[in-house]
Amino acid sequence: MINTIEIYDSTLRDGAQAEGITYSLEDKLLIARRLDEVGVRYIEGGWPNPTNPKDLAFFKEVRKLNLRATVTAFGSTRRADNRPDQDPTLTTLVNAETDSVAIFGKSWALHVTNVLKTTPEKNLELIEDSVAYVVGEGREVVYDAEHFFDGYKEDPGYALATLKAAANGGARIVVLCDTNGGTLPTELSSIFQATADQLDLPVGIHTHNDSGMAEANSIVAVEQGAVQVQGTFNGYGERCGNANLCTVIPALELKLGKRAIGPENVAKLMGFSRFLCEIANVHHDHRQPFVGESAYAHKGGVHIDAMTKDPRCYEHEDPEATGNERRFLVSDQSGTSTMVAKLGKFFPELTKKDPMMATVLNEVKRLEHEGYQFEAAEGSFELLARRVMGLYTDLFKPVSFRTISRKDDTTSEEAEAIVKVEVDGEVYHTVADGDGPVNALDQALRKGLERSFPSLRQVHLEDYKVRVLSTNDGTAARVRVWIESSDGRDVWGTVGVSENVIEASWLALLDSLHFKLMRDAVEASQVKGGTGTD
Ligand SMILES: [Zn+2]
Repeated sequence: MINTIEIYDSTLRDGAQAEGITYSLEDKLLIARRLDEVGVRYIEGGWPNPTNPKDLAFFKEVRKLNLRATVTAFGSTRRADNRPDQDPTLTTLVNAETDSVAIFGKSWALHVTNVLKTTPEKNLELIEDSVAYVVGEGREVVYDAEHFFDGYKEDPGYALATLKAAANGGARIVVLCDTNGGTLPTELSSIFQATADQLDLPVGIHTHNDSGMAEANSIVAVEQGAVQVQGTFNGYGERCGNANLCTVIPALELKLGKRAIGPENVAKLMGFSRFLCEIANVHHDHRQPFVGESAYAHKGGVHIDAMTKDPRCYEHEDPEATGNERRFLVSDQSGTSTMVAKLGKFFPELTKKDPMMATVLNEVKRLEHEGYQFEAAEGSFELLARRVMGLYTDLFKPVSFRTISRKDDTTSEEAEAIVKVEVDGEVYHTVADGDGPVNALDQALRKGLERSFPSLRQVHLEDYKVRVLSTNDGTAARVRVWIESSDGRDVWGTVGVSENVIEASWLALLDSLHFKLMRDAVEASQVKGGTGTD
């Protein structure tokens, strides 16, 4: 019986093919770092080919991160009329210089004749020698059998022959794909078993959610001996998406007793799920199993009454196992485990019972109620905690800002910002131009502060995202602005919320600069051998 299941993450490849989701290169690198922290075994980074410069650059940059996970490049078998060593797809896969390469090939005659426009025999040749070429270049090959289940239903003998071709080519593992997502669990389970019985190499599973069965299909495949599960976090992917790893992983670990990423990492899943939403710039699905805000929220009076007697009454798992928390909606006395864990990172000596903990949590909750979200904004979070605990006092004070934008048919947008900030009782009044109002604000703010705080010159904006928050009770819509900044050494996220997008940006910008100054001060106090603040 296999107890360790390899988690093969495709959030950056299949997940990036979801409608409404686009990642910049910086987003992809940031997500890769966090995926690594969550403990996935493989990170499929994308499809490196000359028409996809972002993915080419990703493979170059990701090497510098020295991730523990095996970064994998993804691509197809060679074209029928190319030699493997002259085929552009295979050579770019090799040039991506990853330890592992995923090659997908056709299992279904429909695709072989109508899409590849070649013969079934030739397709077997393409699979075997494409795999063999990449293996010969020293790479581990994961062979993805596209449309395996549809192909098997039409011609089991041929579908199996394609896997044997990959095995002959030297693939380490073959992965059976329910590419169109139309197979139901009972059928998938029996096809998986019949196939695995005839192979003597490891077999994995890759499912799509077109029938709402992607996670169930992944689980039944594991019960039939799958050693690898491919999927994406939050289930992002083509059409209805892929198997959601936020669901599959807890099911494997908590229910089947398998090891996938380990319990300490399972507890990070809710935080990771919310982080990914922030970067993908989409709303977090509150009804997601295990990691949705509503997954352990109890509303009915009868339920709440029973829950206070024994939490097993209306919960199938412990919410904290996936970093979630139990909520009673009537009284809204939400639990605090995630925040406690987060604060513990910065202030290890702070215990759950410390009254300061409750003060910080109350402030966090008040801000969350206003629309703040700190999962991807650890800069704002740490700043808030230090301010509330009296461990940091702001070194400058914003007094006012004003922006003016101009645009006519012949010019691109010009913006001007006028900013007043107070440092040590003195008010600095500065004006700056920019490409847009936010850029102008950023410039003016720095101009006012850099004389007093030269280290702010190192800070630059890496990324900027705006999210419109849903309105409740007829109030005006609010926007949340998320900014990522870097000083060339550290990267931090900050957040601002307002009914006005410029003000929300201003708040996030202020936090970004405050964070840099706070970090400098904390480090200086540690270097001096003072008491330090954490
Ligand atoms: Zn897929």
